[in-house]
Amino acid sequence: MKDRLPVQEQVDLQAFNSLHVAATARYFLELRESELIEDALSWARERNLDTLFLGGGSNLVFAGDFPGLVVHMAIRGRHWEQIEGDAATLVLGAGENWHEAVLYATRSGYRGIENLALIPGTAGAAPVQNIGAYGVELCDTLVSVTAFDRESGQWLCLSRDQCGFGYRDSLFKRNAGRYVITEIRLRLSRRKPLQLGYRDLEEYLASLPGRDPDALMVAEAVMAIRRRKLPDPQQIPNAGSFFKNPVISDADYEQLKERHPDMPAYPQPHGVKVAAAWLIDQCGWKGHRDQRVGVHNRQALVLINHAGGSGREILELAARIRESVRKRFGVILEMEPGVVGGAGLPPIA
Ligand SMILES: Cc1cc2nc3c(=O)[nH]c(=O)nc-3n(C[C@H](O)[C@H](O)[C@H](O)COP(=O)(O)OP(=O)(O)OC[C@H]3O[C@@H](n4cnc5c(N)ncnc54)[C@H](O)[C@@H]3O)c2cc1C
Repeated sequence: MKDRLPVQEQVDLQAFNSLHVAATARYFLELRESELIEDALSWARERNLDTLFLGGGSNLVFAGDFPGLVVHMAIRGRHWEQIEGDAATLVLGAGENWHEAVLYATRSGYRGIENLALIPGTAGAAPVQNIGAYGVELCDTLVSVTAFDRESGQWLCLSRDQCGFGYRDSLFKRNAGRYVITEIRLRLSRRKPLQLGYRDLEEYLASLPGRDPDALMVAEAVMAIRRRKLPDPQQIPNAGSFFKNPVISDADYEQLKERHPDMPAYPQPHGVKVAAAWLIDQCGWKGHRDQRVGVHNRQALVLINHAGGSGREILELAARIRESVRKRFGVILEMEPGVVGGAGLPPIA
């Protein structure tokens, strides 16, 4: 079967993760056809190996080498179906670049995902953490996900409701490794109202001369704001927001607000979401540098690899940040990226 599957050995993963940390995959497969997924899984099972399904590596920390089979999801393809009036369904193969898909849809005149421009990674990984930005989440437009369920051995077409989406969360994230996503479907429309309520976006668009914004203008505005605020992983390796914004109870929030009246907070159906970046910044981490890794000097939520840092160094720094926020505010930060090839953050003492 190895002949049918072009499995490579000892592949360097540095170019396959946005933190650019060094790690080696014992075996590596570039997977272009969904029909080969079951063969790849059998191949790994026969050798007693773990399998990791990898997209763009922009939401992962390699804590060490991966001793099993890394399957790089490179299933391409995008097309429109069910075009009815102003609405249409965009079908994306798991290996399609997410940002290019946003530009494609927007330039075709369809609305719904323009606020999600410039999020790195693949379409197949987008449902895993229900990507979100500037007041929009993937689940707002997602219709269904085609996936192979490794537990039942069945191919599934999961509707949005079956995906169990939450804030940076989904069925796929809660059952890491169980589902292999091969295709997603998004319902877009030429007339969907634009989501312009996010303050930065509103201010940016208001500063432009003239006409009412269209979806392409919104995508371009989001790109400009993101380029100003977030480091480009090609130049400064990073994994985006390293911690989720914590949601705390109303009672805990009231106590914190007394001591910190300027703390940014967003009421939720249950509890209050507080800004992790603010908490980290208050603890003095913004711009902090250890030898090879550090915290970005404009965005305290982004940990960066300055030069040749390892995943372990990044995780050690993250553990110190989490501990200082816990000590000062009593709030426990949760990591956003997944950890592979080793242990994640140590449990809270
Ligand atoms: C600079 C920067 C900015 C970012 N901004 C945002 C943001 O604004 N909003 C946001 O939500 N995220 C953001 N992220 C995080 C990241 O871009 C997203 O989580 C993205 O969806 C990850 O895609 P990926 O292909 O790189 O996934 P990977 O990092 O390769 O994988 C992430 C997880 O998904 C799993 N996975 C990947 N592909 C598949 C598949 N086909 N089937 C099943 N499981 C799969 C992996 O096993 C892993 O567990 C940012 C990251 C960076 C570096």
